[in-house]
Amino acid sequence: MAADLPIILKRNQHPISRKQIDHDCLKVLYRLNRNGFKSYLVGGSVRDLLLGGSPKDFDIATDATPNQVKRLFRNCFLVGRRFRLAHIRFAGNKLIEVATFRREVTAEELPEDPHDHLHFVQNLFGTPGEDAYRRDFTINALFYNIDDFSVIDHVGGLADLKRQRIRVIGDPMVRFVEDPVRMLRALEFAARLDFSLCNDIYSAIDTHKGLLTTAAPARVREEIMALFRYGIAAPVLRQCRELGMLPHLLAGYPGTDEGIAMLMQVDERTRRGTDIDESFSLAALYLRLFMDSCPPQGGTTIAAALQSANQILTPHCRYFSIAAGIRIRARDLLVGCFRLARGHGQRGEQKFLRHPATATALELFSLWSEVRGDLKPLLDEWRSSINNPAGHSQPPTRRKRNRRSKKNKKRTPQPG
Ligand code: ATP
Ligand code: MG
Repeated sequence: MAADLPIILKRNQHPISRKQIDHDCLKVLYRLNRNGFKSYLVGGSVRDLLLGGSPKDFDIATDATPNQVKRLFRNCFLVGRRFRLAHIRFAGNKLIEVATFRREVTAEELPEDPHDHLHFVQNLFGTPGEDAYRRDFTINALFYNIDDFSVIDHVGGLADLKRQRIRVIGDPMVRFVEDPVRMLRALEFAARLDFSLCNDIYSAIDTHKGLLTTAAPARVREEIMALFRYGIAAPVLRQCRELGMLPHLLAGYPGTDEGIAMLMQVDERTRRGTDIDESFSLAALYLRLFMDSCPPQGGTTIAAALQSANQILTPHCRYFSIAAGIRIRARDLLVGCFRLARGHGQRGEQKFLRHPATATALELFSLWSEVRGDLKPLLDEWRSSINNPAGHSQPPTRRKRNRRSKKNKKRTPQPG
């Protein structure tokens, strides 16, 4: 990178104002600074503030060691095995993360005995410049210095923000091998910010996409959930398909056009402001595959639909260690959609309609009906029967009459 870096923008050369920074975060920045430590706002928050957005969280980096940070704040807890981080807690479950500047470890630096790695890595504190270089993309490595309110750029991130492009710090061929999750993050930030990717990212993905299977599943899971939370699952997974990453990222997910069209509907719902949880996103991800595996009009039984949903969801949930509760909710959403797609007049319909999960299944089904337009009349029927259970036009089935008479029987007064 250019030798004339870092670039330092003084307070009057950039738009970040302290008013935009969370006031507890400011308190932490100031206290570190008053005690003689470097105290920077770092990462995504600086990027978002420079782009005029409001950051979702504020991270701090300092040259104080974790223990020194702990001594300054009563509400501070040290966490993390590999890298010790200080978490400072505030009212309302707010958490400000303070990290000591650190540097990347090269493979040659590691001690020969693997047992010594952990201790070695834990103590790899670095300078602010080294801390900037160990980060993933140039736009994620900008610092805001509370001491003089300047923005510090060691890696050319300001120019890339201006040009709206995602550039890996260093050589993507090396940085993606170090951490394959960065391939996914590159696509994620490009989609979130509507930035382009530098060309060397494409060639490095092409060479190293297979390494995604070696990434910690928990981290991949976290990034995939981020795609849903930011309403960018459709464009990113479509791009993953185009770049041949899908089989290494989500082995059981075919990424068909209809599957992606479904995710576009889900993304729009998220961007309209509806929170998304993991069970809903899982059901949305696999709905197309599920519907194909048990066509609702093909005489499939509920038991077969349940089995099919399990067969699709279980490998995903096992790989990513997703809790049974989430898997079961996703399964019930899929089976709920199956029941809705079968239409009225089936066994157990009233009970199904009264079930608290049915409203969510109906929401998923309504998104699916945007993809499969022929389901719209059915969706309208279900909506009117749910809003107006007594008035729906279907004749009661024999099964329902039986249920009613059973209920009446139960209501007969008991002796005593
Ligand atoms: P968001 O708005 O999603 O929180 P962010 O940029 O803050 O975006 P985080 O995942 O919260 O992203 O990570 C915080 C910072 O840590 C990043 O800005 C980046 O500097 C650094 N970072 C995160 N993941 C990696 C990685 N895999 N490799 C190198 N640096 C990373
Ligand atoms: Mg962040």
